Amino acid sequence: MSYIFGPVPSRRLGFSLGVDLVPFKVCSLDCVYCQLGKTTRKTVARKEYVPSAKILSELKKVLTGSKIIDYITLSGSGEPTLNSMTGEIIREIKKMTLIPVAVLTNATLLTNDILRKELLPADLVVPSLDGATQDAFERVNRPCASLKIGEIIKGIIDFKKIYKGKMWLEIMLVKDINESEDELNALKSAVERIKPDKIQLNTPVRPPCELWVKTLSASKLIKIKKFFGNKCEIIADFNRKGHKAYLKDVEEEILTLLSRRPVTCKDVSSSLGLHINEVIKYVDELERQKKISLKIYQGKRYFQK
Ligand code: SF4
Repeated sequence: MSYIFGPVPSRRLGFSLGVDLVPFKVCSLDCVYCQLGKTTRKTVARKEYVPSAKILSELKKVLTGSKIIDYITLSGSGEPTLNSMTGEIIREIKKMTLIPVAVLTNATLLTNDILRKELLPADLVVPSLDGATQDAFERVNRPCASLKIGEIIKGIIDFKKIYKGKMWLEIMLVKDINESEDELNALKSAVERIKPDKIQLNTPVRPPCELWVKTLSASKLIKIKKFFGNKCEIIADFNRKGHKAYLKDVEEEILTLLSRRPVTCKDVSSSLGLHINEVIKYVDELERQKKISLKIYQGKRYFQK
């Protein structure tokens, strides 16, 4: 399976079956905290990057199995809504199954009226908004030059007005970058206009793209949660524990690979045929257990035993 991964256990979505709609790191942003690394193709052009027929045929096969799946989640290794067939794919999934469909998006393309309509049949949309000023947006998300945060916020507001499903707005806060009083006030005013069902605060707890990225403390996040009010929750997982779907044999395979030479997450993904998002979960857990360690070489992250 090259476009479907998981189900991956997710704190927010339960067992989430991932659907990858674009190739690795095709994205309109290049976020400093991205756990997948630097964006290799920064674009706002919508195209059928991955053939929808292939995605749907793989998905059909997975759904005939007996796995527990709480959400089918369009996400993966780039910005899913860049795939011009997003709407068609959601519609076809809804014909195949009653499992709810979630879309995790960086929201940049919600300025597009066609995309807003395409997302209407989804059950849950989780847009990100990390800054409400152009300055914070550029510092945290390093967007394509044409993207303006004011227009994106308007796009999210316009979408929320017509959308009947649930919307959870995710805000990733990076220490000393987008958590000043002025930035938080601007974000709060945008949130009040968007009116999401939930506001989810996060901070980079997994290894970020840029080594200088700093995590906010749990106590600071609690203060900010109070500032955003009762719809706000913290989703940053400071106490990462082994998860239910963690497979010991996959762990062994990764450890065997690392015993030969230091490798990147992408190397593990290609060698073991696991989706990069799954690899990140395993590597994260192995590092937490101190079974492997991180080594930076020429700006790349290598893991070694
Ligand atoms: S975090 Fe998401 S939006 Fe940001 S660069 Fe990575 S894939 Fe793109």
